[in-house]
Amino acid sequence: MSDKRICFIGAGNMSRSIISGLVNSGYSPQLIEASNPSTGKLQALQADFAIKVTTDNLAAAKAADVIVLAVKPQLMQQVCAALQSLDLSNKLLITIAAGISAARYSDSDYLAQPVKLIRTMPNTPMQIGTGMSGMFAPANINDEDKAICNLIMTSGGQAVWVEKEADLNLVIALAGSSPAYFFLFVEAMIKAATELGMEQQTARALAQQAALGAAKMLLENPQLSPQQLRQNVTSKGGTTHEAVETFIQGNLSGLVKQAMNNCIARAEAMA
Ligand code: NAP
Repeated sequence: MSDKRICFIGAGNMSRSIISGLVNSGYSPQLIEASNPSTGKLQALQADFAIKVTTDNLAAAKAADVIVLAVKPQLMQQVCAALQSLDLSNKLLITIAAGISAARYSDSDYLAQPVKLIRTMPNTPMQIGTGMSGMFAPANINDEDKAICNLIMTSGGQAVWVEKEADLNLVIALAGSSPAYFFLFVEAMIKAATELGMEQQTARALAQQAALGAAKMLLENPQLSPQQLRQNVTSKGGTTHEAVETFIQGNLSGLVKQAMNNCIARAEAMA
């Protein structure tokens, strides 16, 4: 375990998920500090994880070896500009904000100095230890910095390094935003079942357990492609075949591709 002092600027949902993962995996709470303008979330974090808390971003960042920037993208410029007076040359910065390029953080309206900064893209299942994050390290990041970032991002799940920064937008489309795609699919299944007369709670229980079962079959059979797994449960002329053909005829894969392209275009527009 590392002895780096880590501060989180912004103590919202994602910070809470990462902090929870870190503390639960044995990272010393004394080495973790969260900074946030409103105190309710800070009090809850302190009560739940015994970490340090403050409303002073500058003091938190000054005391830290690793600064995790975890505010909404539209607030990032203002939050970074307020840290300009710090010498950040010996600190590692990790951002979890969508859209903003790594180079942008050094600009005169952001941190106004060269920085060691890793861009990451987590997703919400990090809250329950099943997150999936993408990480991009520019050329000035060394292996020690990568190791600490990896430790932080894998505390609530898994993480992969991407070679090109542009691939982070693909990570958003594949993992950052995709829990919502699966929720939408389950939502549609429950809606259809209730319209056919089933009680909502029973429909949810059936759909979510089927989703869990399918996810576990994917994980536990890495030698089989998703297509093979699908074909294994689809006998020609059977009930599953009828349903799957309906999705294929409706061009589900074309719709998924369009949704992912739109997701990527949105991330690019935010840059
Ligand atoms: P969130 O729950 O709204 O958290 C953001 C936090 O920033 C809030 O607690 C907010 O405090 C705080 N904040 C506002 N102004 C601040 C300031 N000047 N200094 C310090 N903190 C400030 O949002 P989130 O879902 O955790 O998202 C945080 C970042 O993660 C975003 O950049 C987002 O793009 C990224 N991200 C999110 C997801 C996701 O699925 N949620 C996935 C990947 C990446 P108040 O509430 O008191 O204003």
